[in-house]
Amino acid sequence: MKVDYNELKQVAIDLLAQRGVTLEDIAKITLEIQTQYYDDITLEYCLEHVNHVLSKREVINAVLTGINLDMMAEQGHIKEPLRSILMNDYSLYGIDEVLAYSIINVYGSIGLTNYGYVDKLKVGILKDINDKSKNHERCNTFLDDIVGAIAAAAAGRIAHTK
Ligand code: MG
Repeated sequence: MKVDYNELKQVAIDLLAQRGVTLEDIAKITLEIQTQYYDDITLEYCLEHVNHVLSKREVINAVLTGINLDMMAEQGHIKEPLRSILMNDYSLYGIDEVLAYSIINVYGSIGLTNYGYVDKLKVGILKDINDKSKNHERCNTFLDDIVGAIAAAAAGRIAHTK
């Protein structure tokens, strides 16, 4: 099978939308991180950078993998005890964060600092995603880290460009 990453980028965007996250939601997190450093920064500018981050193969692969694992856990396609670990977003699991590192690493160490910040403060839609995790039918174990990491990577990209 030949893989076309332009097509896969759209699949990744569609999957995020299916899970309730638009690129604009992600750009809003980036804006909140960067607005303290640059007065002239706009949502459109952040959105442009989010779009660039989502063009990277590593990022697309992480989105597809993480969201598929969340959905498989919901649908019961993952064996116990891993299914319960994912459905309950068990805090010592940690592989969701490891997957997110493959997104952050694309723009170097600055992304890691940004990621820690948004993850701790649950900026923007991240708060919502984490609330939905309390719904027992729903698994967002990978989604929150993916969204936070894309926003953080976009912020890192802006820092390298400005
Ligand atoms: Mg998580």
